[in-house]
Amino acid sequence: MNLILLGAPGAGKGTLAKKIVKDYHIPQVSTGDILRENIKNETPVGKLAKEFIDKGQLVPDEVVIELLKNRLSQDDCKKGFILDGFPRTIAQGKSLENIANIDGVILIDLPFNIIEERIVTRRVCSSCGEIYSTSSYDKNDCKKCGAPLYQRDDDKLETVRNRLEVYDRQTAPLINFYSDRVYRLDGSGSPEDVYARAKTFLDDLEAKSE
Ligand code: AMP
Repeated sequence: MNLILLGAPGAGKGTLAKKIVKDYHIPQVSTGDILRENIKNETPVGKLAKEFIDKGQLVPDEVVIELLKNRLSQDDCKKGFILDGFPRTIAQGKSLENIANIDGVILIDLPFNIIEERIVTRRVCSSCGEIYSTSSYDKNDCKKCGAPLYQRDDDKLETVRNRLEVYDRQTAPLINFYSDRVYRLDGSGSPEDVYARAKTFLDDLEAKSE
């Protein structure tokens, strides 16, 4: 099952992806995570990407497409994958058509004012990547592995508005691009509520793509 998660930053793509990984045994492929790993390791790609990420802008298509192509060629993606944060432009969507077949697209729908609130309260585990909100979990260490939580630099309020504007202008047109395959998922409520709503679609898709 080859799946895309679409939706604004903070809509809950990463959280939903982690639940799908567990139940459907396919890897989450997050271009944001790959870029952050490159930044941490101070690679040439990381240095270039940081300039864009810090401003809330998109990293150039050719850079991200190359990273994605490499990642999808790895063995664990042979049985399927969940794309989280890719594609983000029509050009990326078109390139993806030459790399893999996409069985389904989930669009996580959430009003912008709730999204803004979710992003600025988001905290991420520095070791396992688990995602928390300060509104429901006020500790500084991960519940799962005990490592410290941190706030992503680009989750600070000054960058968030720009990221949402970039989403509206450059990524939202993909909803039409995938109109024959898109499932609109209500992103409100708890992660468990959202996942329960997604399951029927996912089970159906899994059966069809077997
Ligand atoms: P994310 O973790 O998906 O919110 O991504 C964090 C940042 O990484 C984004 O704001 C972009 O600057 C960059 N990024 C991630 N994925 C892509 C992509 N597919 N195309 C361009 N830039 C990306």
